[in-house]
Amino acid sequence: MRCEVCGAELKATKTDLPFKVRDAGIVILKSLPVFQCASCPQYLIEDAVLARVDKTLAFLGKLKAKQIDSSEGRTITLKFPSMTLNFTAQEYLQGFVMTNFYFHVSMVYAILRHNGVEIGKRDYLGGGGPRPQRRKVSKKKKR
Ligand SMILES: [Zn+2]
Repeated sequence: MRCEVCGAELKATKTDLPFKVRDAGIVILKSLPVFQCASCPQYLIEDAVLARVDKTLAFLGKLKAKQIDSSEGRTITLKFPSMTLNFTAQEYLQGFVMTNFYFHVSMVYAILRHNGVEIGKRDYLGGGGPRPQRRKVSKKKKR
C-alpha cells in the first residue's frame, strides 16, 4: 500500500489520535491501528477501525455530565510492560493525558517547522488572521 500524498510505503502501526466530538471537545482514542506513511504525516484508517471509532464517539456523545461529575477521585491504573502507574482520575487527566496531548501536538509543530512548513505559535493557538510581515531592521549609524 502506498501513500497517496508522497508515494512512500505505508506501514501498519498503532497510534493515539484525537477526534472532535463537539465544537470545543475532543477525545483521544489510544492505540488505533493505522497505516502510517514512512515519509510524511499521512496515515490511513481501515473502514472496520473507523466503524469502531464511530461507535465509540456515539457512546461518548450519549454520556451525561452527571455520569462523569464527581469521578475525579476514581482510580485510573495504566499497566505497561515495565511498570504500573496509578492515578486519581483528576491526576490522570491533568498530569498525564493533557501533558501527553500537548507534547504530541508541539512535536508535530516542531517536525513540520523543521521540514519547512511556515507555521508558528499563532497557528498552534488557533488564531487566524494575517501574519505580520517580517521587516529587515537596519542598524542605526553612530553619530
Ligand atoms: Zn507520505
